Amino acid sequence: MKTRINPWHLSILCGFLITIFLFWTYFYVSYNLKQEQVISLEYDTVWSATNGRIEFYKYSASVSRYLNTGDPADLEDAQMRYEILLGRMETWSSGNFSSFLNSSSSLASDYNLLSEKLEALSPLMQRLEHGDAEQFQSALEQIAPIIELISSKSYQSSIKRFSGEREEFRQRLLTERRVVIGLLVLATLLMAFVMRQNSTLTQANAKIAGDADKLAYMAKHDGLTKLPNRTLLDEHLTRAKTYLRTGETVYAIALDLDGFKAVNDTLGHGGGDALLAAVARRLNGFVGKLPGDGLAARIGGDEFLVFLWCRSDQIDIEASVQSLAATFNTPLETAIGSLLVGTSIGYAAASEKDDVDYVILNADLALTEAKAAGRGSAMRFAPSMRAQLERRLQIERELPNALRKRLITPHYQLQFNLFTGEPVGMESLARWHHDDIGFVSPAEFIPIAEATGDIVALGRTMLRAACEDVQKLPEKIKVAVNLSMIQLLNDDLVSLVATTLQETGLKPSRLKLEVTESVVMHNVDAVAKLLRQLQQMGVTIALDDFGTGYSALSYLNNFRWDELKIDRSFVTACETSQKALNTINVIKSLADKMNADLLIEGLETQAQVEIFQSLGCMYGQGFFYNKPAPIEQVLTHFDERGYHHAPEAAVNAGAHI
Ligand code: C2E
Ligand code: CA
Ligand code: CA
Repeated sequence: MKTRINPWHLSILCGFLITIFLFWTYFYVSYNLKQEQVISLEYDTVWSATNGRIEFYKYSASVSRYLNTGDPADLEDAQMRYEILLGRMETWSSGNFSSFLNSSSSLASDYNLLSEKLEALSPLMQRLEHGDAEQFQSALEQIAPIIELISSKSYQSSIKRFSGEREEFRQRLLTERRVVIGLLVLATLLMAFVMRQNSTLTQANAKIAGDADKLAYMAKHDGLTKLPNRTLLDEHLTRAKTYLRTGETVYAIALDLDGFKAVNDTLGHGGGDALLAAVARRLNGFVGKLPGDGLAARIGGDEFLVFLWCRSDQIDIEASVQSLAATFNTPLETAIGSLLVGTSIGYAAASEKDDVDYVILNADLALTEAKAAGRGSAMRFAPSMRAQLERRLQIERELPNALRKRLITPHYQLQFNLFTGEPVGMESLARWHHDDIGFVSPAEFIPIAEATGDIVALGRTMLRAACEDVQKLPEKIKVAVNLSMIQLLNDDLVSLVATTLQETGLKPSRLKLEVTESVVMHNVDAVAKLLRQLQQMGVTIALDDFGTGYSALSYLNNFRWDELKIDRSFVTACETSQKALNTINVIKSLADKMNADLLIEGLETQAQVEIFQSLGCMYGQGFFYNKPAPIEQVLTHFDERGYHHAPEAAVNAGAHI
């Protein structure tokens, strides 16, 4: 693996090297200064020699002067000079000068000769007033060449040494200069390196800052459409909540595409993505024309939200929403061609700071209502919508408790032979009367129970109660129990039915299970397999709400239905529409071919009963006959008509409660 040099380590190393260089220079210069001192000591030798020479000549001159003048003062001077000369000679025999003299044997002997000759002068000096000038002159002439010799040798030696030292000094200076240049080069390199480091760091910083910006952008925008996401939207809301002024309003317009799933299913995710991107462009175009502070955000798969904050008098929100909805009447230009997609819209406004928190929630609620009202609707939030949501949440909270306390009980609606008017069966319908909320319709709580999963427990309770209650009625009466898709998917339904029948002692042929078209459509093969297992037990299976919703007849072939229940909507339609009557005829012949019973739901009037009688439909149920009621009331119905219902003993034998 390639090891990379850490730039910080490198700069530390450079700094360390420079420090060593500086120390080295410091010691080197100090050393040189010392050497300078040595050199100056060398100069002492020349100085001593020169002085000795001068003193000798001064002494000679002084002696000559006395010999000429005979002046006792000159004599005195000559004697003093002699003493000085001796003193000088004395200094020659010590210190540096002595080292110089001892540097060669000839010099040492010269010096000894000189000393001897000077000492030999001493008796002559004492007798100087009587002295022989010639003798003196000759003695001095012998000394002079020796002094000259020593002094010239001292010069020569000094000059020689000095030139050597100069050379050495020059070399040292050269080295110093090199060191300084090296230091300068190093410092320059270090500076270049530091500058490079600095620029790398600056670039890295810029990159980090850039990355941080990118991350911050990504955190607040949707990757696909580049629209702001929920986070950024919330920031705008918080700002609006803080700074909203009187006369200003915050609007939230929630949009949900109609049939987006179909686009995804048929054109694939690429098609779906292209559509979403085109919707984003269209919304941005819409927002661009709005006054004030506006943005379009993507807050879910195919959910968008337009946020707008402006002066209330700047906009007619109803007209704007209508124009937004109208833009979806023209196809969107997408990367894969033109696509037409509808949208449902819910919108809400907040003119008080405290309401800003709820504006999106309110728009969402309005959107839910709009979707329920049908494709392409646009609805403005109304406070009743929130009451509905609160009610839904309350139901969601209370449901488990109601199940535990058995507050949800079955009511039964009888089913009749339209021709004889005889009861043939009854449908079990769940009823819940809540102490605070009042009556809660199954149409309301069943979807909630399906969403929370409570439907499984509810289904068990209803099945068991139906199996027990029907045994209180004459043998010929069957009981129909509604099944939810969740029960078919989540519960081990076959074994549940089997155990319930066994434990309650009900004959399987008296139990009918109702499933809706949507349940079957969900997974035709799996559901058909399950239903077949139930049929094999002897239980009958009815197709509920037939003719509503999808109305696909294809799955009629996948399973042998025991009964088709014609939805209530046909009852009213058949009163006015020949087409509806024709459809019933088709369904009737289909049912006959399949050997399935036909049961008409929601018969409310004698006239309606007669219509279906004339069509040859055999069975029916509805408010014309009776409203769903507790089993006690159903029993009364039978009593009043003199039916013999099951003996107590038989009921109790099957009951396990
Ligand atoms: P569904 O299975 O279609 O039940 C028939 C609905 O029509 C019942 O509404 C019944 O009260 C109502 N109905 C009967 N005759 C008439 C009539 O002449 N006119 C009018 N206008 N309505 C009539 P309900 O009891 O409110 O139940 C609504 C739906 O809730 C049921 O529709 C069913 O899908 C579901 N449901 C009720 N109980 C249960 C249950 O125990 N389990 C499951 N899974 N679903 C249930
Ligand atoms: Ca039903
Ligand atoms: Ca039905």
